[in-house]
Amino acid sequence: MYTIGCQMNELDSELALAALDEDGIRPVESAAEADVLLVNTCSVREKAEEKAYSWLGRMKALKRVNPDLIIGVLGCMAQKEGELIFRRAPYVDIVAGTAHFTRVDDYVRQVRATGKRILAIGRDEQVQTEKRLKARATPQSSFVAVMRGCDHHCTYCVVPNTRGMEQSRELEEIVEECRILVGEGTQEITLLGQNIDSYGKRLRPRRRSLAELLYAVADVPGLKRLRFVTSHPSDLRPELFQAFKDLPNLMPYLHFPAQSGSNEVLKRMRRGYTHERYLELVAAARDAVPDIGLAGDTIVGFCGETEEDFERTIELHEKTRYQASFIFMYSERDFTPAKDQGLIDDVPFDVKKRRINHLIHLQRQWSTEENLKKIGKVYEVFGEGPSKRNPGRQEGRSPQNQVVIVESGRDLAGKCYSVRIDRATDAALYGTLE
Ligand code: SF4
Repeated sequence: MYTIGCQMNELDSELALAALDEDGIRPVESAAEADVLLVNTCSVREKAEEKAYSWLGRMKALKRVNPDLIIGVLGCMAQKEGELIFRRAPYVDIVAGTAHFTRVDDYVRQVRATGKRILAIGRDEQVQTEKRLKARATPQSSFVAVMRGCDHHCTYCVVPNTRGMEQSRELEEIVEECRILVGEGTQEITLLGQNIDSYGKRLRPRRRSLAELLYAVADVPGLKRLRFVTSHPSDLRPELFQAFKDLPNLMPYLHFPAQSGSNEVLKRMRRGYTHERYLELVAAARDAVPDIGLAGDTIVGFCGETEEDFERTIELHEKTRYQASFIFMYSERDFTPAKDQGLIDDVPFDVKKRRINHLIHLQRQWSTEENLKKIGKVYEVFGEGPSKRNPGRQEGRSPQNQVVIVESGRDLAGKCYSVRIDRATDAALYGTLE
């Protein structure tokens, strides 16, 4: 299983793997050993789709050697491209969209029995999350999807098209899933939703809120750390800040994308807030939780972005001082409101490139400056295990979700330990075990 994209995709891959596990189909070390090859795709950026097609191109050779090999494309790109994938890659057997992860086992069985390919992109299926409980990649940390889809129509975004409108799960069902996960050894849970602040607004007979859900999940005995992503500045409610204050296991971290600092661009993106409102919310968050870690997403070079617009984005970054920021270059996507409404992708590529490089450079400087201020402080770190690059080092996360690295030969995965910070870069904190 090759997963491209966000945390929701990682979770969806787990769901597909759990479904396959029931049929005795288990992950193997390399693609060459596999009988079933699946790619879980992302459509948010052109690059992600190119990555999926280039992976498919590489897998074609394996299918030539082993004609019984089953190749499947899952998730957002499958939902968006549908039949087109079969035309571009005729050796693909399964194209299954965003509501079909837990049916992948059926599809594999059908292809084996009939030799016919399967296109499953209907939206009437509800993703069954319970199946996932049988197979998880990292037992100490788990993702739990609390809702799927999004009711916003940000003009650059393909998500409402690929994932549909918001659908929240029942609060009690989520709490029960978390209880089971903790019983199986999970210590850290990240609740996932494309626009998690609007969790529960359509639930009946009683609508629910994200804050209500956080209080209920935080109460699960044995749960050490609780996080949630992703927040939308238009939907963030004040009671959320109270939850941060009240709940000791709710980690002080907010993924809070601004996307642009220009009011004109924000209007064209249809984000529903202004530069000023965004900074007010940042101030309110810091007022309530002074050590909160803020992460952002920014799109550079959106339709009609001028140098002045870009300057406003730089200003917003400088004032927000994100702990981490994911900065992307705009590329026009099919099935987005921007494309449908004729917004023109008119910022030349070299201008986008210059702007993104400039902003990344500045952001790195600011992140480094902020991280250097943490030298001498002690953080409670939740261990993720040995560093992939250097097994003599252990990686973990601070409450603010920053990577913290210590020199140690002991496997600290799943352990909580205190680290005094003695060095910092833009991307990580380095320290010694206390
Ligand atoms: S809030 Fe906007 S960017 Fe986020 S998923 Fe919804 S439409 Fe896409």
